[in-house]
Amino acid sequence: MEEKIVKFPAAGGGLTDRFRRPLRDLRISVMDRCNFRCPYCMPEDKYHKDFQFLTTTERLSFTEIVKLARIFAGFGVHKLRITGGEPLLRASLQDLIGDLSRIDGIDDIALTTNGILLAQHAAALKAAGLNRVTVSLDSLDDKVFDVMSGGRGSKDKVLDGIREVEQSGLLPIKINVVVKKGLNDETVFDLVEHFRGTGIIVRFIEYMDVGTINHWRLSETVPARELVELINARWPISPAEQNYHGEVASRYMFEDGQGEIGFIASVTEPFCGSCTRARLSSDGKLFTCLFASEGTDLRGLLRAGASDQELAETIGKAWNGREDRYSELRALQSEPGNKVEMYYIGG
Ligand code: SAM
Ligand code: SF4
Ligand code: SF4
Repeated sequence: MEEKIVKFPAAGGGLTDRFRRPLRDLRISVMDRCNFRCPYCMPEDKYHKDFQFLTTTERLSFTEIVKLARIFAGFGVHKLRITGGEPLLRASLQDLIGDLSRIDGIDDIALTTNGILLAQHAAALKAAGLNRVTVSLDSLDDKVFDVMSGGRGSKDKVLDGIREVEQSGLLPIKINVVVKKGLNDETVFDLVEHFRGTGIIVRFIEYMDVGTINHWRLSETVPARELVELINARWPISPAEQNYHGEVASRYMFEDGQGEIGFIASVTEPFCGSCTRARLSSDGKLFTCLFASEGTDLRGLLRAGASDQELAETIGKAWNGREDRYSELRALQSEPGNKVEMYYIGG
């Protein structure tokens, strides 16, 4: 396929990859460190106290992030998701949110967090211009929560954080639940029961083979289809329309009017065909897929004094050449290969 000429700023976006997928969303990892050690993401044995995380100077500064985000917006990106690691470990995050919210073309800024520090930050984040929050909470059972978070934090603190977000008006709140067979699959009903009727949307995510250190096995993924059937048998649910093209969660509504629930079937029903997401790691590498093994170094260019035009050309070239559809190909692969870890580029 012939390569397109990248113009910056692209009039109305217009940047597409090799499968004609536009670039619409950017996930920005602002922090590689985390205060949890979820075994499916940052198992304690690997991320122990001597693990070398990035240094402050290795991470992109807020100025650098904003500069890049502005260029992405010029290509048609309108949604930003701030993630990590744990994004709330990054000091003064509200300042970054404020700067990002003033970029032309950005109309939605969301945050994904484990929620443990949320109560103290929710109001300032909202005031700075944050639009939505997704909180990860894998179980309401204290023992299961403990296992799923690697023995850190407390479910009650996460619930406090969720309450604070509700009060600050950052709605609707979504709850991400990674379901791992034999670990928390027995406790999904409690989560549904707790949040049904509150306006908070629980979304069950299939446990994925991100990175290489979680020793993923397909047998530990609970297919979304199975969960839909189980939940439907207890609280009847009906499929709902997508909110927008490329939405990753399949939406369902409780038939008794008690709200919405979602299922993200990344493993068993991949959605690469509508994937419009790019990811920026905390040290400034651009990844065009969650399962990529290599990224494009934007920090090096930034710090070498590259102009916006040069940065745009590099970003445009990376997206133009994008052929990623890992989840669709997963079933055909015999070897897991060398993939970047999720805490590093953000979920
Ligand atoms: N620390 C924040 C949090 O946990 O919400 C943000 C970063 S975390 C990497 C983003 C999302 O990725 C979380 O909802 C987490 O549950 C999910 N995640 C991490 N590892 C995963 C895996 N192996 N399979 C499916 N989802 C995963
Ligand atoms: Fe930390 Fe989030 Fe990964 Fe858990 S899923 S270890 S909270 S980055
Ligand atoms: Fe997008 Fe890659 Fe996930 Fe497919 S596997 S949906 S291309 S991030």
